[in-house]
Amino acid sequence: MLEIISFILGPVETNTYLISDTQTGEAAVIDPAWSGEVILAEARRLKRRITQIWLTHAHFDHIAGAADIVKAPGMSVVIALHPADLPLWQMQGGAPFFGMHIDPGPEPSASLKHGQLLQLGGYLFEVRHAPGHTPGHVVFYCASEKVVFCGDVIFAGSIGRTDLPGGSYATLIESINAQILSLPDDTRLLSGHGPETSVGDERKWNPFLV
Ligand SMILES: [Zn+2]
Ligand SMILES: [Zn+2]
Repeated sequence: MLEIISFILGPVETNTYLISDTQTGEAAVIDPAWSGEVILAEARRLKRRITQIWLTHAHFDHIAGAADIVKAPGMSVVIALHPADLPLWQMQGGAPFFGMHIDPGPEPSASLKHGQLLQLGGYLFEVRHAPGHTPGHVVFYCASEKVVFCGDVIFAGSIGRTDLPGGSYATLIESINAQILSLPDDTRLLSGHGPETSVGDERKWNPFLV
């Protein structure tokens, strides 16, 4: 089974997902938002082995928990990010812009590409480049489980903000059309903030997509 545990962490209530293949115990953290020790403790309780951290994008509120996870004793974790968001990552994900400071930990060593397949145990996740909120934003789509981890591209009833450096409204709408609305209606959308939704619900009700 693909187990999905969600956490709401940090100063702007960001969703972090701990996903595991329960058969192999292998786990990935999608957007370790904050408080890495909380994510680690849950992984330990469930006897999951975190081997990968996948970042949808490099905003500070999606990366600030990575350092705690990577630096924990006995951990060997690959951090993956799209290269177009590396400059943002190198600026602490824009934290100083909000008057904050974070320790982003070691620089991501895996470079995500559109169309690439990531493996977690017996599950495959397709990387889809969906810029607009940030230049290097990606979403992770698992077709067999009908689920997308979509970061700050789209939310229940809303879309990602495009007023921050590197944002573009027209690009974001294009990305949503090409990378999200092209998927079947019953595909679950697990966003970076707020509750779960689905492709069908957003196609029907999202006021930004009419
Ligand atoms: Zn963001
Ligand atoms: Zn966010």
